[in-house]
Amino acid sequence: MAQKVGDYCASFMEEDGIEARGLIPLADVARISAITNKASLSAYLGTTLNTEVDGLTANADHVFGVWVNQSFTDSEHYVFHFLQGALGMPDGDDYIDPSPKMSALRAQYQGHIAAILKLADLADSETRAARIMSLEIRIAQAHAPDADAADVFKQNNPWKPADFGVKAPGMDWGAYFTAAGIAGQPEFIVWQPSAASGTSALVGSEDIDRWKDYLRFHLIEHYASVLPKAVAAEDFTFYGTILTGTRQAPERGKAAIAATKGALGQAVGQLYRQRYFPPEAKARAQGMVDDLITAYRARISNLTWMSPQTKEKALAKLAALRIGIGYPDSWIDYSTLDVVPGDAFGNMRRAEAFNRSGNLAKLKRPADADEWRIDPQIVGAVIVFTPNTETFSAGILQSPYFDYQGDAASNYGSGGAGVAHEISHTFDELGNIYDAQGRLGMWWTPADVAKYHAAVAKLVAQFDSYCPLPDLCVHGTQVLRENIADLAGLQVAHDAYVLSLKGKTDVVIDGLSGEQRFFLAFAQRWRKIEGEAALRRQITTDTHSPGEYRSDTVRNVEAWYKAYEIALTDKLYLKPEDRVGIW
Ligand SMILES: [Zn+2]
Repeated sequence: MAQKVGDYCASFMEEDGIEARGLIPLADVARISAITNKASLSAYLGTTLNTEVDGLTANADHVFGVWVNQSFTDSEHYVFHFLQGALGMPDGDDYIDPSPKMSALRAQYQGHIAAILKLADLADSETRAARIMSLEIRIAQAHAPDADAADVFKQNNPWKPADFGVKAPGMDWGAYFTAAGIAGQPEFIVWQPSAASGTSALVGSEDIDRWKDYLRFHLIEHYASVLPKAVAAEDFTFYGTILTGTRQAPERGKAAIAATKGALGQAVGQLYRQRYFPPEAKARAQGMVDDLITAYRARISNLTWMSPQTKEKALAKLAALRIGIGYPDSWIDYSTLDVVPGDAFGNMRRAEAFNRSGNLAKLKRPADADEWRIDPQIVGAVIVFTPNTETFSAGILQSPYFDYQGDAASNYGSGGAGVAHEISHTFDELGNIYDAQGRLGMWWTPADVAKYHAAVAKLVAQFDSYCPLPDLCVHGTQVLRENIADLAGLQVAHDAYVLSLKGKTDVVIDGLSGEQRFFLAFAQRWRKIEGEAALRRQITTDTHSPGEYRSDTVRNVEAWYKAYEIALTDKLYLKPEDRVGIW
């Protein structure tokens, strides 16, 4: 396994070999040339079905993507979630937004398409680029609007295979499904029906040559990182510099590591776990999570705004919640994946095929709520509502978030509050439309909703009063949901910390009591340097408050006043009647 990881990375680093082979590895370009009619076009499109997407980033790099997951109504079986895709710019809106800024970006994207076609020695690259662009604009017009894409009830559209020909004519769906390796799949959840029908109609109506140019461009673009430098550089100019403002491409070594992690995620994860996250780290984090769950159970039982029947459902959902910590119990077996030294392109292609068939194979198995959803080496966490599960990687369970050899008070104040924040979404206005098994269905009563909104109103006012610049204040409503989760996370983590002491008094470290270290760690978690432009952007668009104000969540917590002996005259003092407690 380590050999495969090493070989994959080393082949990516062999730039001379990649340069020498030029675009020869793109044998598929020849297959694109062989497309002559709608059936062969549909079959080719089937081969590009992209499984490397999930429901959280439903924008595939090829015409459609699939996310294999349980359905919205059945937690026992995996189903085929069918997602829109096909666009080279990040968002469908980028193609439609009439602002001068977006028209300029569209011109730059079209220039990028032309540059890639030119590198592939295709004549009339400018004309072809314009034609590809107009095709993508029409696909974008069929995409679901962002508001619909965020509304899960609009995504739950089960289609049988036969429905595609009726609801989305144009594509030869039989040829598409067969080539994609999914013939016989009994049902699909089509998240964005307008995109399925709009894209399919274009397969039927558009000139085949235009589609072939579109496919050539996307094929080269997709493999840019393992093609000659000129292609990779052009790819970076658009996706790195123009789109995200990064001036310099990452060193090849860093790109090689990122590519290896993408291709052999769990193989790298096993190596990472062996080195950095021993079983005692997992056990210690598990102990903290157990305390958090115990604290939640008590808090939910004591809520005054939630009705008794809703509390019962909340407690059942808490009991059913699966929390993955660090790394999976069973790992992906990569033994059938060939990694060939010196063949970066082939390795990437084989790894994609391997991961794709692994994903599609799940369709034949019962749904597994403990399926591992984030590679252990990634610094991150995944919360999904279908199924009812949250996963915290080994990568994020490290200092200063969580130190398995370190001080418990600091761990609970930092990582504990973070984990508890995520758990709170299981029960709040994000999670209240999913039941204990992750099936769709509102389980709060209208009275719960009304009382909840009354209880949170003061938190809106509290954050409205934070103004980092003379003309710029936090929008309390925009950040409300995350502030509620921060507050719940802090309070529950504090309860859990107290539980962890089992009645004993914590030691004093560097002159600080355990209580003080708990709140200090919470505040330190939000340390961040942010320029004015970034701060303005965050306040205008983000659903999270700037870090400074997230740390001020402590103002609502009685134990913080005690720990630091906060007095009436202190800057962060809040009158008891202005303090908020929701969970
Ligand atoms: Zn959150």
